[in-house]
Amino acid sequence: MPELPEVETVARDLRGHVLGAEIISAWGSWPATLRTHPLDAIGPALAGRRIESVGRRGKQLVLGLSGEAILTVHLKMTGQLFVVPRGAPADPYVRLVISFSDGRELRFRDIRKFGRVGLYAIDPGTQEPVREVGGAAVFAGTGPEPLDEAFTVRAFRSRIRSRRARLKSLLLDQAFIAGIGNIYADEALWAARLHPLRSAATLRPADERRLYLEFRRILAEAIIRRGSSIDDYTAPDGDGSMQEHLLVYQHAGEPCARCGRLIRRVVVGGRATHFCSWCQRLPAADRTSAAAILRTMTPRAGSAAVRRGGRWTELDGDAALGRTADERARAAERARARAAERARAGAEQARARAEQTRRAAANRRARARDGSGGG
Ligand SMILES: [Zn+2]
Repeated sequence: MPELPEVETVARDLRGHVLGAEIISAWGSWPATLRTHPLDAIGPALAGRRIESVGRRGKQLVLGLSGEAILTVHLKMTGQLFVVPRGAPADPYVRLVISFSDGRELRFRDIRKFGRVGLYAIDPGTQEPVREVGGAAVFAGTGPEPLDEAFTVRAFRSRIRSRRARLKSLLLDQAFIAGIGNIYADEALWAARLHPLRSAATLRPADERRLYLEFRRILAEAIIRRGSSIDDYTAPDGDGSMQEHLLVYQHAGEPCARCGRLIRRVVVGGRATHFCSWCQRLPAADRTSAAAILRTMTPRAGSAAVRRGGRWTELDGDAALGRTADERARAAERARARAAERARAGAEQARARAEQTRRAAANRRARARDGSGGG
C-alpha cells in the first residue's frame, strides 16, 4: 500500500499537472469509492471548482479546492492517479473521472476498489475540513507528520513514552504517527536495530532517538527515490526506485545486509513483518508475550538452535524463514541476478586482463621495432 513517500510523490507529480485546473464535471462508477457523496452527486459538487493546492496528510492526498473545500484521495491497496487527455482509452478499473476545462481528465484507477475519495467543506470557524459544519475535523484522529520540523525527537519521545504497544503495531498506528506503513516500519526498525515485537515500554532514550532518526532518514530517502514501486504503486510521472534500496522488506531468506544472517518473516496482526533476529534482539521481558507469534519459528528438536539452548533467534532451515512463494521466487531471481553479475564482472576482468596483455605485447613489439630500427 502506498505510504508517506509514495503519496508525497503522487502529490508532487500531480501538482505539476493539475494546479489551477478548473473542474467542469466528474463522474464515478463505483459507489463505495466515494466516502461522502452518492455517485450522481459528485459531479455537481465538484463542477466549477478550481484546484488551488495539492498536498498530503498521512497517506492521503489532499487537493485544496476553490469554494472552501478539499478533496481527499486515499489510494489504499491499488489506487492510481493519472492525468490524460479526454478521450484517452479507459479501462474498467477507472472508478472516478474528474474533467477539466482544458480538455484533460484526472482519473482514479483502482483494481481492488479499497481506495476512497472524499469531498469535504472547510469549517469557517475552525478552518478544518469537516463532513458537516460543526462536526469533527477529517484529520482529527491522524497523528503528527513524521517529517514536520515541529516533530522533534522530543515530541516523538513524549508520544512514545506513554505507549506500551509493540513497536511494529505502534509505527503502523496512524493516530500515533501519520504515513508509516508496512514497508517503512520494517525498514526503520531494522535500521534502528529494534525488534518489531519489542514493547515501546522497554525502549531506552538511545533507542528512541535511533528509531526517530531512522524512520525520518528512510522516509526522506524514499521521497527522493519517488517511493517503492511494489505491487500496483506508480505515480503520474512514473515509477519509484526505492524498492531497489529496501534491505529487509520482502527479503525473507536473504542475508541481512549488516550481519549476513538470514532475514526472517513473521505475521504480526495480519501484517507480514521482516527482520533480522540477530541484529534486532527481543529483550527477555518481551519474549513471553511474543511467543505465540514466534511459535511458527520454534526450532525443530535436534536442530543447531535447540542444541545451543533453544534460542528462537538462531533458527536454521528454510521453514523457519517464513518466506512466501513470492519471496522465494524473488530471492531465486536475485540470486540468479547476482550470479549473472558475478559472471559479467568475471568476463569484464578477463577482458581487462586480455587488453592489458595485448597492450603489453604491443609495447614490446613497438620497443622491439624501435630497437631494431634505431640500431
Ligand atoms: Zn542482521
